[in-house]
Amino acid sequence: MEIVVIGGDAAGMSGASQIRRLQGGWPITVVERSPLTSYAACAVPYFFAGDLASAGDLGVVTPAAFREHSRIDVRTHTEVLAIDPRARRVAVRRDDGGEEAIAYDRLLLATGALPVRPTWEGVELDGVFFLRSLADSLALANRLHTGASRAVVVGGGHVGLELAEALARRGLAVTVVERAATLWGGGDPELSRLAVDELAAHRVAVRLKSAVTGLVGQGGQVVAVATEGGEIACDLCLIALGVRPNVALAAAAGIGLGESGAIAVDEGQRTDRPGVWAAGDCCEVLHRVTGRPCYLPLALAAHRAGRVAGTTMADGEARFPGVVGSLAFKCFDLAIARTGLTPAAATAAGYAPRGVTVEAESHAPASTGHVPITVTLWFDATTRRLLGGRLAGREPSVAKRCDLLAVAITTGMTVGEVADLDLTYAPPFGPVWDPLLQAAARAARECGN
Ligand SMILES: Cc1cc2nc3c(=O)[nH]c(=O)nc-3n(C[C@H](O)[C@H](O)[C@H](O)COP(=O)(O)OP(=O)(O)OC[C@H]3O[C@@H](n4cnc5c(N)ncnc54)[C@H](O)[C@@H]3O)c2cc1C
Repeated sequence: MEIVVIGGDAAGMSGASQIRRLQGGWPITVVERSPLTSYAACAVPYFFAGDLASAGDLGVVTPAAFREHSRIDVRTHTEVLAIDPRARRVAVRRDDGGEEAIAYDRLLLATGALPVRPTWEGVELDGVFFLRSLADSLALANRLHTGASRAVVVGGGHVGLELAEALARRGLAVTVVERAATLWGGGDPELSRLAVDELAAHRVAVRLKSAVTGLVGQGGQVVAVATEGGEIACDLCLIALGVRPNVALAAAAGIGLGESGAIAVDEGQRTDRPGVWAAGDCCEVLHRVTGRPCYLPLALAAHRAGRVAGTTMADGEARFPGVVGSLAFKCFDLAIARTGLTPAAATAAGYAPRGVTVEAESHAPASTGHVPITVTLWFDATTRRLLGGRLAGREPSVAKRCDLLAVAITTGMTVGEVADLDLTYAPPFGPVWDPLLQAAARAARECGN
């Protein structure tokens, strides 16, 4: 059984490795455009901040290691140009310009996502960057070596904020421009205020409600970002407006897409074409709260879906039960995390969301280093089911506390049940009444529990 995988990152290599575990003798070919496999995009902001020694450290497992230890034929610097699902073969082009066809019996599409590219004038200027691929990261790294001193980050989502921190830590004067009234989408003014304060404390300027109208160039190089409120001078501009699924190959091959525009798959990651599977950021995932497919491109989901695809491709049994959309990131010393549905998504799914926000201390008063943690919980006013949550605080445990909420949401707990959880208590780790318990108790009281 000949296996071909398109895309050698999280989903593709998880899938290929799982097939190798289950089917030791099957030939597996992975076709990857870039020079690396298992490229840690999530670590890119820390690479720019100077926390990694070199770009090579972004490759978690090298192509050579996959070839040697897993007997996977990894073909880097090679791009798939087209899929012919009837003839079961893919057309590829190597870096040397040579083209060939590779036959498959089973194909895994793991082509990931592409950055959203606005149609603004000047978007092609030198000094304008979109950060997604390794090539994007290397191009920005080269620019930083040439002495840029002012950067504008367009987009106040998690990637924009992580990169704003990284560039500021490199000594650049950074301005974050965001069209919405709050940072990090979702319209949470309190959380946005905390992030704006944290950025301001580290001399990063933030312009909210500021729509970009174009990029201004001089001699082919970007020199300013034009907004409705005027121009902001810069040496480089980083556009971080989110991603869209990379589905051009799939669409051209007639593989079915879902409502979100990402590839539609069943629980075993099969597409609607016989012999073709898909996983990761190019695909839809099932949301465990709504029970509907959605587009939530995140790393762990890509690995998990890749593993499920690998299992079913290798004649094993597996199903991907879905995601709740958990994400954590840091903006300087502020940790921010979210899981579950936003109020807007909850309303769209037919729930009647209500929210509570609590600010509580991270530790017992007797211990040193206690800081406030802000917890917002959303729950259904009728069933009291916990639907979503957000946390922020200058304390790393924010992410792990969010994980606890993810468990509660996954298992369908009510806010009353969360308030009754028997959690640990010891002064070095937290207060007797953890901020989560306090928030859940407040929510339960508001429902008359
Ligand atoms: C800066 C940054 C920070 C992030 N931080 C986080 C985080 O903190 N937490 C989190 O959960 N997620 C984070 N993500 C998202 C995470 O990186 C992705 O969810 C994850 O990489 C998805 O894996 P994937 O394998 O589906 O797709 P990708 O990682 O996009 O991999 C797709 C691969 O396919 C290859 N490819 C595409 N088309 C072709 C073709 N035609 N031929 C050959 N090869 C092709 C590409 O070169 C690429 O290597 C971050 C992303 C970025 C960019």
